[in-house]
Amino acid sequence: MSEGRVVLVTGAARGIGRGIALSFLEAGHRVMAADLGEGTEWRYSLSTSAQLDATVDELSAYGDISGTPVDVTDADSCRAAVKATIDTFGHLDVLVNNAGVVDSGPIESFSDTQWDRIFDVNVKGIFHMTSAAITHLRRSDDAAIVNTASIAGKLGAANMSAYCGSKWAAIGITKSLAKEFAPDRIRVNALCPGIVGTAMWLDHLMEGEGEGAFESRMAETIPLGRPQTTADMGQAAVYLASAPNVTGVALSVAGGIDQ
Ligand code: NAD
Repeated sequence: MSEGRVVLVTGAARGIGRGIALSFLEAGHRVMAADLGEGTEWRYSLSTSAQLDATVDELSAYGDISGTPVDVTDADSCRAAVKATIDTFGHLDVLVNNAGVVDSGPIESFSDTQWDRIFDVNVKGIFHMTSAAITHLRRSDDAAIVNTASIAGKLGAANMSAYCGSKWAAIGITKSLAKEFAPDRIRVNALCPGIVGTAMWLDHLMEGEGEGAFESRMAETIPLGRPQTTADMGQAAVYLASAPNVTGVALSVAGGIDQ
């Protein structure tokens, strides 16, 4: 990928999305960081506009970055985020569909609301953002889409059927769009993180397990002996958006846990 591309990253206020935004800046690209504004209630706290503003402020030390609110479950909001990107930077070359939510629990106590929200964000969000962005991506001579899926899109896990199902869907959508957009020379790939110590793990999946529990569990379960980092994910996302002859892959960055 040539330098100075414009990259729109959803879920960029914190966690993996923040790491992806930072890596693109460090590689010389320009970034529109998009994330929720106020008022979206979930099982654990999601980002706020104050968090997005703080991230944009911190990352501006690394390059040209701006921020915009988006709710990827809302098609109009996705169109507005793409428009904000074009208004700010003039064009769009790379879309990173990273926003996501997790919830877990036995299937019989899972509610329709939980199930639908997971699919609305993790699956329909990719549809909304890609639909909103595709006209602009087709105008770029070096366009790519990176979807943050998961190793949960390659494996199954007890009490995680909604989340795993949504991530299998994300990989299926990635492979389909890779073929659909190949005539336009737009590459579409999925990034499959292993286990990164973000809000998903620390505020939900391992909530209340105490200091050090995350690191010691990861040392036991991950072949390479450590959790993955947001920098690992950023590096892989830049690679996937840059490799000129790679499309339709689901790249695990997981320390060997999915072998
Ligand atoms: P996180 O909760 O820190 O970040 C997710 C971000 O998405 C938050 O900033 C949140 O506000 C945003 N978001 C949620 N709903 C949104 C919506 N409707 N519209 C716009 N933004 C929304 O968690 P994370 O671990 O950084 O997750 C990032 C991505 O990585 C997700 O797609 C997640 O499924 C995936 N992932 C995470 C892990 C892990 O171990 N943390 C592993 C595999 C995949």
